Amino acid sequence: MVQNFDVVIIGAGGAGLRAAVEIPKEYSCAVLSKVFPPRSHTGTAQGGVCAALSNMEDDSWENHAFDTVKGSDYLGDQDSIEVMCKDAIRAIMELEHMGMPFSRNAEGKIAQRNFGGHTKPADPNDPYGKRIPVKRSCYSADRTGHVMLHTLYETCIKNQVNFFSEYFVTDLLIENGVCKGVVAMDIATSELHTFHAKAVIFATGGYGRVFRITSNAHVGTGDGFALCYKNGLPLEDMEFFQFHPTGLWKLGILVSEAARGEGGILKNKDGERFMVRYAPTVMDLAPRDMVSRAIISEIREGRGIRGSDGTDFVYLDVSHLGKEVIDDKLPEITGFARTYLGVEPTKEPIPIQPTAHYAMGGIPTNVNGEVLLNEKGDVVKGLYAAGECACVSVHGANRLGTNSLLDLVVFGRRTGKAVTDFIKTADYAPISGNEDERSKKIINDIFNKNGNEKVVDIRTELQDTMMNDCGVFRNEADLKRMVEKVKELKERAKNISIQDKGKVFNTDLIEAIELDNLLETAEATVNSAYARQESRGAHTREDFPKRDDENWMKHTFAFKDENGGAPILKYKPVVVTRFKPMERKY
Ligand SMILES: Cc1cc2nc3c(=O)[nH]c(=O)nc-3n(C[C@H](O)[C@H](O)[C@H](O)COP(=O)(O)OP(=O)(O)OC[C@H]3O[C@@H](n4cnc5c(N)ncnc54)[C@H](O)[C@@H]3O)c2cc1C
Repeated sequence: MVQNFDVVIIGAGGAGLRAAVEIPKEYSCAVLSKVFPPRSHTGTAQGGVCAALSNMEDDSWENHAFDTVKGSDYLGDQDSIEVMCKDAIRAIMELEHMGMPFSRNAEGKIAQRNFGGHTKPADPNDPYGKRIPVKRSCYSADRTGHVMLHTLYETCIKNQVNFFSEYFVTDLLIENGVCKGVVAMDIATSELHTFHAKAVIFATGGYGRVFRITSNAHVGTGDGFALCYKNGLPLEDMEFFQFHPTGLWKLGILVSEAARGEGGILKNKDGERFMVRYAPTVMDLAPRDMVSRAIISEIREGRGIRGSDGTDFVYLDVSHLGKEVIDDKLPEITGFARTYLGVEPTKEPIPIQPTAHYAMGGIPTNVNGEVLLNEKGDVVKGLYAAGECACVSVHGANRLGTNSLLDLVVFGRRTGKAVTDFIKTADYAPISGNEDERSKKIINDIFNKNGNEKVVDIRTELQDTMMNDCGVFRNEADLKRMVEKVKELKERAKNISIQDKGKVFNTDLIEAIELDNLLETAEATVNSAYARQESRGAHTREDFPKRDDENWMKHTFAFKDENGGAPILKYKPVVVTRFKPMERKY
């Protein structure tokens, strides 16, 4: 079946919905989501969304921009970062006006709290001297993403956006640099639908599920990344994957940085506040890459705590904050500790370990969400991307906490505006009506395969090996092994078979397609990481421990090799405007 819409948005998280809100009612707009829209991963965001509102203390967008550039380890494009940090203040006001219920301070203004890497100069006359933490993160207890997502969803309903819930996108239609739409499967019936569109926006979220221990929802399988990559488009900076320092031990469920923002402390087996040794000024509020490395270093040097199953963790202690602060400001995450680990956070420390959390890299775009065709900056006509699946790039080699929800609303809106301008004059690119053939073949092949491999086995092996060989610390030997492993798993994936051969809510079928997407994103990630011979932000090479601005201050663009070989890597210079690269110390 073919359906026509001026705009088709894939993904109903914060980015997709914020873009949808921007499309004027006179244009038809469809939002497709493989889960019921408010179950998108944005709904799990806990800690906050930042903007230099100065509600608690003096702050400025320039402070925010400097922190973001430094946090990115100087890989973020500074022109894009300026756009985001300047627009942040308006973006928060706009959410408030839409009805988002923020927590309030004593004056009734939006309350703000500390978050890792968000600072201001200790002496205003010395902007690049010593910096101290600043309260910049706006929040709604520890359910910020949940209330943001619901506010945006309700606004979309008011604007009569058409939702296609539980539709799984299986193909992207691009010909000669022009996007014509997508093909999607209605999960309830396995029926294929061609969505013919003037403009398509990818807002498909992250791919944390490529790692064993992750904070990401099960739907975070990198479908958008893989669909672009398989269609010849590049993926940018995939080697930069953020590990959040505080996931619940063994489970990876996130304990928001808000816990440390409110005063929580990390401790090793001797009860020592070890961050004093790694980031003497900001300590537990150092950026995530540094805190994750510190935790793994403590464990490697024998100062972790050995769990009953032989794996190690360290402690996050919030007990000294008192029951009132914990119940008022951190109710969800302390509830997780009680439910999943049987720990009472008001009395005892929480066992934690780093958890795969966020993709800094993704589908390359400019500040208007237009998808780049190559490292030269040419764009694909009619194709846009926003949110975690996109790489603008504002997060560079390491994202600061609360900058992602901000990225969603700032660039979601800008993308919606750019698309509106585009569809005013654009026509539908012609289609034949047989656009679903490729998807039909993929699905039939999966149904007809009788191999002896199981999707779950290949996925688990991928997740385990990615965790070990492409995790917080990396080196040549591990990465080379992982490059080979991905090749091997791709071969083995040709021999899968699925048990459920039915057409109704066939999750076996969906997981088989998702496995292919995970393998494609892993291929781009591992090969980009293997090539980058330096340590920067989240990409830490034990064999190349220093940042190397001379050779590596550039973005990776990974293109899929049509002949099945290793991806072809090209590079694009970083945009530097006002902040000169410096050593990154906290
Ligand atoms: C536990 C957790 C806590 C976080 N806390 C914070 C925080 O406090 N502050 C902050 O700034 N950031 C936080 N982040 C990061 C931030 O929440 C995410 O980066 C962001 O929400 C991603 O939003 P998105 O709109 O890009 O995608 P998502 O919200 O992930 O939505 C993706 C959408 O794409 C759809 N989709 C994907 N593939 C397909 C397909 N094949 N077909 C159809 N639909 C598809 C899904 O159904 C979904 O609707 C957190 C992340 C996690 C995991």
